[in-house]
Amino acid sequence: MSNAKIVCTLGPASASHERIRALADAGMTVARVNSSHGTREERRDLLERIREVDRESAAPLASMVDLQGPEIRTAPVEEPVDLVEGSEVRFVEGDDASASEVGLSISIAGASPGDRVLVDDGRIEATVERVDGDAVVARVESGGELGARKGVNVPGLALDLDVVTEDDREDLELAVEQEADFVAASFVRTAEDVLAVAGVIEDLGGDVPVVAKLERSGAIDHLEDIVEAAYGVMVARGDLGVEYPLQEVPLIQKRVVRRCRETGTPVIIATEMLDSMVHARRPTRAEASDVANAVLDGTDAVMLSAETAIGDDPVRVVETMDTIVSEVEASEEYADLREQRVPGPGTASADSLARAARYLSRDVGASAVVAASESGYTALKTAKYRPEAPIVAATPDEGVRRRLALSWGIRPVHVDYVADAEDVIRGAVDAVLDVGAAESGDTVVVLSGMMTGVEGTDTTNMLKVHVAAETLATGQGTVPGRVVGPLAYAGDGLENAPEGAILAVPGSFEGPFDGDLSRIGGIVAARRGMTGYAAIVARELGVPMVSGASLAPADVAPGTTVTVDAERGIVYEGDVLARERAAGAEITADRRP
Ligand code: ATP
Ligand code: MG
Ligand code: MG
Repeated sequence: MSNAKIVCTLGPASASHERIRALADAGMTVARVNSSHGTREERRDLLERIREVDRESAAPLASMVDLQGPEIRTAPVEEPVDLVEGSEVRFVEGDDASASEVGLSISIAGASPGDRVLVDDGRIEATVERVDGDAVVARVESGGELGARKGVNVPGLALDLDVVTEDDREDLELAVEQEADFVAASFVRTAEDVLAVAGVIEDLGGDVPVVAKLERSGAIDHLEDIVEAAYGVMVARGDLGVEYPLQEVPLIQKRVVRRCRETGTPVIIATEMLDSMVHARRPTRAEASDVANAVLDGTDAVMLSAETAIGDDPVRVVETMDTIVSEVEASEEYADLREQRVPGPGTASADSLARAARYLSRDVGASAVVAASESGYTALKTAKYRPEAPIVAATPDEGVRRRLALSWGIRPVHVDYVADAEDVIRGAVDAVLDVGAAESGDTVVVLSGMMTGVEGTDTTNMLKVHVAAETLATGQGTVPGRVVGPLAYAGDGLENAPEGAILAVPGSFEGPFDGDLSRIGGIVAARRGMTGYAAIVARELGVPMVSGASLAPADVAPGTTVTVDAERGIVYEGDVLARERAAGAEITADRRP
């Protein structure tokens, strides 16, 4: 899995269950539903389908409801109309469009002669000549095909609209009803606008984090406050490039991503990333570079818009994007940038621990950083410091599991709620083994945040180096000590058993062992108790033994390296003591050469 995540806009080309599934398999982790298009009924279906796909597999798929916001759209025409350069066009409030009169969702009669009318992210441009009652008469400067419901910007025109319109309120009801994972708030100018959207969600009884879309002129002046107020931000380059001079967009992108890296706020780079792939099979070089540069900037996610909503081959687009992302993330340049840009430690203790986890995981050669996180807070902090090892976020909260799918480097996994601190760590480490981020015997770094209902305080703000170990069997420590060795089965006799063998003794075995007893390094007996034949031998030899733990050749092949931990009564797969041994610890009864 890549570090940078892929957000896909769903639309007619990607609405079916199969398509959504295929996009997720290709690398999509967040599906965006744009409220500016389609009917609310269609969007409800889409959200339900996204959730179904999420449920089908362990990999998370989050949903994002993108609000229309206070914006002007052109009429929902069936067939595109041609606006010809040099011609006169009337903009009126209405539901239809022709080459000479274009209906808009909201009147722009407040415009003045000389104002520019920019349609479809500025692809079509006209200059206002006069205002004729409710109609605005303009001259087309650059023409083109006008499709349905394209955005209209009139820079400088103050729209008399709330940041949450009536339509938005209904879309928020839908988002809350469907428990969407994010709401994207369009055209916010200030932190107050972000809070206004969050307030409506709260009033509706919902708990959906708000992603602020940076696209309105003036918004960048309030960047710090907006980043603080929002869960995440989106550099929505479509409208941004119309509301701001186009040449400023690349630097705005870099500044926003830098700010978000410093604060640990999820950030999405959006619009036209692989735009030519709406129809073409391959992106342009410039587009490939654009995706690569966003990844090098350190963004959490890159987004696809029309490419996946109405494109010819949405799955291919995601595969292409994923390939570009992976290539960059494997590069030295990427590693160097990551090394150079570690944020300062911040003031929260979670920050200090997460920052330490970054360095600690590198120094101990950890396979993964595991964040046991109920609210997602600890996982986000971990990601903020961009460790080299993959981050596995183990959370009992399904919503948090999906939400973290937007964040850089995090592989979210669901774990059960447990009531004991030690189980929190065990559950998290098992999750890492399950997703294959580490193998039994690997070292992992575990970070844990606050957990409600967990006994003991030692998982709160905890950082720990831990050996991930697959538990093969648990029983009772019968002769103390810990030992590592190759597994042998008592029924096979000792003559062929390797030196230091861990002897597995089935419940039916009556003894005695035949062959050279000195080959035995440890014993795992199925029959529980201190008095059986095997226990007597173990005591005599002074080798660690766990009893009441059964192993079968069908599950664990002879010769497999196992660790007998008779202090805890657990048999692990692999060598769980290697790290301690390397650190110079003396390991009781470790008879390996
Ligand atoms: P925004 O500026 O809010 O992102 P947009 O109009 O640019 O809105 P995108 O979501 O970026 O829309 O999608 C790009 C294009 O894909 C749209 O202009 C529209 O033509 C098409 N599209 C997206 N979603 C849908 C949909 N649900 N139904 C029909 N067409 C859609
Ligand atoms: Mg919009
Ligand atoms: Mg757009």
